[in-house]
Amino acid sequence: MPMAKTGARPTLFVSDIHLSAHDAELTELFLSFLAGPARSAASLIILGDLFDAWAGDDDLAAPFNAGIARALRALAESGTDVALMHGNRDFLIGDDFARAAGVTLLPDPSVREIAGQRVLLSHGDGFCTNDLDYQRFRAEIRKPSWKEAFLHKPLSERKQMIAKLRAQSEYEKKKKRAATMDVSLASVCEACCTYRATILVHGHIHRAGRFHHVCHESECTRWVLGAWSSSQGSVLAADDQGWRWLSTSP
Ligand code: MN
Repeated sequence: MPMAKTGARPTLFVSDIHLSAHDAELTELFLSFLAGPARSAASLIILGDLFDAWAGDDDLAAPFNAGIARALRALAESGTDVALMHGNRDFLIGDDFARAAGVTLLPDPSVREIAGQRVLLSHGDGFCTNDLDYQRFRAEIRKPSWKEAFLHKPLSERKQMIAKLRAQSEYEKKKKRAATMDVSLASVCEACCTYRATILVHGHIHRAGRFHHVCHESECTRWVLGAWSSSQGSVLAADDQGWRWLSTSP
């Protein structure tokens, strides 16, 4: 078998696609990305909130969810390594989904060597440490006991609870200041130092950008992935030539 020339193929990063059966155009855009540009990548790293909501892997029975898993699997079988990290919306994605989709679940945070750099990967909500209410809530729902009890409920009840939590969080967001919901620079610097990373890639805050941080003991470039809409996807690429944005439009 001839050796694949993986050296020249980029690593692509996306997050916050927020796929849902109610948004056909967005789904179409993401599926064409998986069938198109993602095929020429060595790996695709999805940094959370692939789905707008995930009630549990038994929801793979829904045709929409099964279709997304199939499309990811087709990409993985075409030779692109696909890694998936949980976001705050889809942290209940489990091993059954990962198997069906042919993806590797990445812990948050994770460090990977990419294009010769130590790169720290995270969804990003863990850096929003100015929002104490949110961090308390996050810690509670990430407990194994909470997850176990939640997943034990019938699927329809779980979906209702998620819709209720969503409405409550939208209401609370309106009352919070933008700075409260942004990442805390102290948390970013602490993470870059702890993991000795020169690059940090995260999503969650839905405002794409590139920042340079001069921290206590090191310097770090932070790439923030943008949220997808039905007309545009935010895609970051890295290879030996450097780091750059790729835009994905229909
Ligand atoms: Mn998020």
